Amino acid sequence: MLRDISHVLISEERIRKRVHAIGAQIAADFADSLDDDSPLVLMPVMTGALVFSADLIRHLPFKLKLELVAISSYPGKSMASKGVKMASELPKDLEGKHVLIVDDILDSGHTIAVLKSLIEEQSPASIKVCVMLEKQRNDGPPIVKADYIGFSIPDEFVVGYGLDYDGYYRNHPEIVTLREDAL
Ligand code: 5GP
Ligand code: MG
Repeated sequence: MLRDISHVLISEERIRKRVHAIGAQIAADFADSLDDDSPLVLMPVMTGALVFSADLIRHLPFKLKLELVAISSYPGKSMASKGVKMASELPKDLEGKHVLIVDDILDSGHTIAVLKSLIEEQSPASIKVCVMLEKQRNDGPPIVKADYIGFSIPDEFVVGYGLDYDGYYRNHPEIVTLREDAL
């Protein structure tokens, strides 16, 4: 696996510090709006957000519920979005709840836009978006904004820290690009 890596964009140490800082910021922002009647619903977008959300939730010191949603836009070996597909059902009890969507990377924004509009149909109290990465796209900005962003990266295909290529490399602890001959 290691020999497939071209270069390291973000080290483990930088990720660890940044996740801690985002957690602190979210904790401060939500401190006043959450109570037992309106707890936080944290919604990781599977599978890419698995690693990030596992680290992030341990910095959030209040009652929250995890509701996983599965969405796929890069099936198999694709390196460009093939259209957004919901692969699981949304929970049906989001009315009046504060929802925090957590994803690995914001690229075109279509994934988050679709998810947000589906959640909005249920009249939640609020919807916020937290992503580990945002791509500086050559095609212009994403169609939705994230409220919390870990790092901005150049318009390159990256893997590691939850992000995959053909299902692999999610377990790599850094965010990296792959060598041409690994693709
Ligand atoms: P969007 O809908 O914003 O264009 O795409 C977001 C989704 O595409 C992300 O949740 C992620 O699954 C996938 N994606 C976008 N860029 C990359 C990338 O550089 N590497 C990997 N592995 N997945 C990406
Ligand atoms: Mg994804």
